[in-house]
Amino acid sequence: MSKKLLHAGPLQHDEVLVLLTSLIKDQLLPHTRDAKPDTSQKQVYYFSMEFLPGRFIETNLLNLDLLESCKEILRAHHYNPDLIFQSELDAALGNGGLGRLASCFLDSLAALDFAGHGMGLRYQYGLFEQKISNSKQVELPDKWIGEDGYPWEEIYSEEAVTIQFGGRLVSGYKDNRLTFDVIGPERIKAIPYQIPILGYHNQRVNYLTVWQAESIPGQQPVEFEAYAKVKRKAEEITEFLYPDDSHYEGKVLRLRQQYFLVSAGLQRILTSFFKSDDHQIFDLPDKLSIQINDTHPALIIPELMRVLVDNYKLGWEEAWNLTTSVISYTNHTLLDEALEKWPVFLVKEQLPRIFLIIEEINRRFCLEVEYKGLEDWESFADLSIIYQENIHMARLAVVGSHTVNGVAKLHSSILKNQLMKSFSTHFPNRFTNKTNGISHRQWLMNANPLLARFISELIGDQWKTDPQALKDLLKFTNDPDVLLQLSAIKHANKIRLVDKIKAETGHDIFVESLFDVQIKRLHGYKRQLLNLLHILYLWDVCHEKPEAIKVPRTFIFGAKAAPGYLYAKRIISLISSVAEQINQDPLAKGKLNVLFLPNYNVSQAEWIIPAADISEQISTASKEASGTGNMKMMMNGALTIGTMDGANIEMTELITTEHFFEFGIRAEEVLAYERNGQYSPREIYNQDLRLQKVLQRLVDGSITGDTVAFQDIYYSLLFKGDEYFLLKDFGSYVNVQNQVQNQFLDSQTWQKKCLINIAHSGYFSSDRTISEYATDIWGLVP
Ligand SMILES: *Cc1c(COP(=O)(O)O)cnc(C)c1O
Repeated sequence: MSKKLLHAGPLQHDEVLVLLTSLIKDQLLPHTRDAKPDTSQKQVYYFSMEFLPGRFIETNLLNLDLLESCKEILRAHHYNPDLIFQSELDAALGNGGLGRLASCFLDSLAALDFAGHGMGLRYQYGLFEQKISNSKQVELPDKWIGEDGYPWEEIYSEEAVTIQFGGRLVSGYKDNRLTFDVIGPERIKAIPYQIPILGYHNQRVNYLTVWQAESIPGQQPVEFEAYAKVKRKAEEITEFLYPDDSHYEGKVLRLRQQYFLVSAGLQRILTSFFKSDDHQIFDLPDKLSIQINDTHPALIIPELMRVLVDNYKLGWEEAWNLTTSVISYTNHTLLDEALEKWPVFLVKEQLPRIFLIIEEINRRFCLEVEYKGLEDWESFADLSIIYQENIHMARLAVVGSHTVNGVAKLHSSILKNQLMKSFSTHFPNRFTNKTNGISHRQWLMNANPLLARFISELIGDQWKTDPQALKDLLKFTNDPDVLLQLSAIKHANKIRLVDKIKAETGHDIFVESLFDVQIKRLHGYKRQLLNLLHILYLWDVCHEKPEAIKVPRTFIFGAKAAPGYLYAKRIISLISSVAEQINQDPLAKGKLNVLFLPNYNVSQAEWIIPAADISEQISTASKEASGTGNMKMMMNGALTIGTMDGANIEMTELITTEHFFEFGIRAEEVLAYERNGQYSPREIYNQDLRLQKVLQRLVDGSITGDTVAFQDIYYSLLFKGDEYFLLKDFGSYVNVQNQVQNQFLDSQTWQKKCLINIAHSGYFSSDRTISEYATDIWGLVP
């Protein structure tokens, strides 16, 4: 125990947290450092450049079945458990949905008692902290590792490995084999840190291993300046998380991060594999599975080939069979700007041997395609891994995996039948779907204890281990008492949020208003701007026909924009400026309230989601691969207003469209417009008076007094093709938003719909998703 804690007087919140954390780590976790790995079970490794776990204290206490008693003890000692838990810093090693999914998956793997571990990077700085100053996003460094390190991790310095970059490739011939040696490579040390991931009430402890880069002592040049340069070049690899989402940037540092992760991770996996005396290299596919989270870790395919061919001296075919039997790939996006393509010269320079292997993989694959008679040149343009001096990572990932999955039905279907059509023709059985999920332990049991307790009072505790049992709630859809209590719980959660916002920002919120929530990364396709256009429309209504606003609304936004994504930052600026004007307009008072909450992250989401009445899931159809924010809010009893996109579609299949506010054009229509170029936003604008008024506000000075401030946004919609079809969907969005307010007036029917949503949300537990991966992709037995 830390000496600091032994001083007299009551402990500070963060000191109690340190105490709790070390208790869990030292007393309750098995001492694993010396334990022999359990080799009876097949091991799964989830490779991801991002993990977004948020805080661990409540999750770990819950999993150890100590949460309630711990809260009681703290209260008995006059501590507020919430305040203590909140003093833990969020580990923000991810941008958004992709990283959060990785964390939910680790949670479910442990809960289902699988040996499933995470491999990631220990960035010194996580996703930036966002402040809003003069209506603009300001990015501050996120120092998530405290002065005494990160409380949940343990360093394993003695298990560090070496990663090689660059050097000169020399080929030779020895013992009847071609050999490849890299002369004078840059060598960097990778140090593993382990964060325990606990199973729910089952004693399981898995690990998330995060790697940190360091220079290797002893090999530095003597001169100080040169020494500093070498050190810097090594350490920068794990210095910061790329703060970008849905966008690919061909930066050499990012390539180095990716290779660093896969090379370090693979070395650790193989060391652990061979700790078991009876393991032979040919047992690999029986004993382990590697899942890559998007193409970011796709270099593991040539890296495993390199290890098998160069180090274990296997033949190419043997090595290829092992590699493709072990690796599987999850695609997360169809957006062209997000598909990774590495310039050949970069990969050649940084990873000369890996490049040769990719070339050979491609040569053999193209021969195979040709042999099958698909050799027209158009298919090669679609299929070749190396094409026009770029390495197409999604193609490499498909060729080198046994299974490729999308993350919701619609997304998997577009992936298979459009984006990767040539590949699915060639590999007809390789493509599949695994609809995303969220941990109901984190997002319901921890985030919404009131609702969780109420559910258990109604249907018992079975749903905690079998979330699909939430369906038992359907018995109560016509029980007025239950619906009333549901409404009271929502109210209590709204008060909790309102008090917190008041304390942090001084902002007053009318608790009885409808909480209309859009929280997610800021991106054109997610259409926060469409939400804002509707708000501007309502603002007009406040002035012209105030009686038409029957339900007061509080719009809540939370969103970070990538620092280099200027359009997204302009939208944040617009939202904040509009919020400021509306909130001080006497005619909007008591009707409209708009909040942009800075620094959206996992902990904040845990406060906002239980308080949401309406969940905004309004992406341009076909652009949101799945979405998981939609699932979190559904599980917490919000109703969704959404397009037929991503997992929204499966949501409506479960609850029927009667319990969902659907609007907007469908994916086929969007894709058809994109092919034929016949979409005309001007035409829509000319026919819709409401739209004309709303868009004029962007350039008439009524928002900031400045007529040029938002001109760029105005132009993007009217003169630059409205890439995300906002004008096309504006009319139906406004109409369905009007239905929202009418239905909100009838509280009982509203609550009934909420209950039906909660009852069907068990399908979206990541336990269901992980069971499907386990059986269909990894070949695990529960
Ligand atoms: C769930 C979550 C996301 C993903 O939200 P989407 O609405 O699916 O984009 C992003 N960030 C955080 C912090 C989350 O918890």
